[in-house]
Amino acid sequence: MAKKEQFVSHITPRSEDFSRWYTDVILQTQMVDYGPVKGTMVIRPYGYGVWELIQKELDARFKSVGVENAYFPMLIPESFLQREAEHVEGFAPEVALVTYAGGENLAERLVVRPTSETMICEMFSRWVQSWRDLPMKVNQWCNVVRWEKSTRPFLRTSEFLWQEGHTIHETAEGAEEDALKMLEIYRELAEDVCAMPVFVGQKSESEKFAGAQSTYSMEAMMQDGKALQAGTTHNLGQHFAKVFNIQYLSKDGQLEYVHQTSWGVSTRLIGGIVMTHGDERGLALPPKVAPIQVVILPIAMHKEGVLEEARKLEDRLRKAGIRVKLDDREQSAGWKFNEWEMKGVPLRLEIGPRDLENGQATAVRRDTLEKFTLPLEGLEKAVLETLDKVQQGLYDRARTRRDERIFTVTNLEEMVEAVDVKQGFAKGMWCGDAACEAELKAKTGITTRNMPFEQEHLGDVCCHCGKPATRLMYFGKQY
Ligand code: AMP
Ligand code: ZN
Repeated sequence: MAKKEQFVSHITPRSEDFSRWYTDVILQTQMVDYGPVKGTMVIRPYGYGVWELIQKELDARFKSVGVENAYFPMLIPESFLQREAEHVEGFAPEVALVTYAGGENLAERLVVRPTSETMICEMFSRWVQSWRDLPMKVNQWCNVVRWEKSTRPFLRTSEFLWQEGHTIHETAEGAEEDALKMLEIYRELAEDVCAMPVFVGQKSESEKFAGAQSTYSMEAMMQDGKALQAGTTHNLGQHFAKVFNIQYLSKDGQLEYVHQTSWGVSTRLIGGIVMTHGDERGLALPPKVAPIQVVILPIAMHKEGVLEEARKLEDRLRKAGIRVKLDDREQSAGWKFNEWEMKGVPLRLEIGPRDLENGQATAVRRDTLEKFTLPLEGLEKAVLETLDKVQQGLYDRARTRRDERIFTVTNLEEMVEAVDVKQGFAKGMWCGDAACEAELKAKTGITTRNMPFEQEHLGDVCCHCGKPATRLMYFGKQY
């Protein structure tokens, strides 16, 4: 047992320092490493495995609503970015430029894409002729570069992986509908796949995407009560269409500008999963995004029949479509328990001489650490059912934890108490005034998260400034 403590003590307890706990977990589980350039990360196979599963889930959902994948160049002429005034203003501070290539200074500087609206708009303007070409829906899986001031692996990096979807439509309603539809897909990904409860709603004017007409987001609460903007969709209106001249011939022969959306989620989600479910032992991965869903540990592995049976089991589970790993390394069982618990594998199966005698495997759930036996006969089905329970168990626990930290507030004092003292989100009526929001942020560091679609009426005045208010807002401190 001393050994076990020694092993886990590498991870700083959550209660002591949540930030360090997070860093310890992602580094020690080999999800990620720091890149040589400040703010960059190397996503190692175990972390990339999570990303691949997120991609697979999302990609299928995108395709089911008629979105097609494409790829656009990473380098964008600087002049493109400058066309939409708000867009350039928003992104200028974070942009990286290529000024020199092929041994000479470039005539026009090139932006390393921070997002691809401008590039894709240019192409849309060439591709669209008439209303028959609409809607047009493309997505790309790629990297983007934003020179962020303070960075943390996954949550905020200078280069990250994401998907960016872009759609154009005949009508304003078409664009609004898609912005909301894609947010619903994100919500489903977050809640049903990542087991991470989110609030979906609309961002304030100041917090919206540079150049958007309206921005919608999903906001998650991490275990330290901080907010994570886990995904965004934007109704871009006709802002970009007008500057990039994306016009089409309408049914009645008029030249019209398209209505547009864009939407993205990034490798930030991986950080969200870690911070939502992890515990003192390390990661706890929801089965749907776990690169290894079941680990099989042969106990007293050199005893007759043990390894053979373990191999058989591995084979059976793999054939049932389960991501399984047999750990037959020469290490003590205790060492392996710790290792796989730290790596957050949802289910551990132990098989030893006594299990063999009884025709069973010993199972341990990562979420509850509950230990039980499963008959070897029909094991595939029982394992699949257990994985479903772990998936649901993690969601329920995260949901309870979050709901316990939502506090209704009616004034600034209560807001600070809710966010800083009780470390959660404040929920209150808000006036919608950018000055009120800026003042709150300057004074307390608290920001508006979103105005949830599920509105409630808690009163008629702003919980910060006291002016008339009609909409409910979530407030918190963000990552
Ligand atoms: P945006 O294009 O700014 O709306 O960003 C889309 C999504 O990308 C956001 O909702 C975040 O989840 C994610 N994101 C934005 N900036 C970063 C960053 N520096 N590192 C990781 N993810 C990011
Ligand atoms: Zn106010």
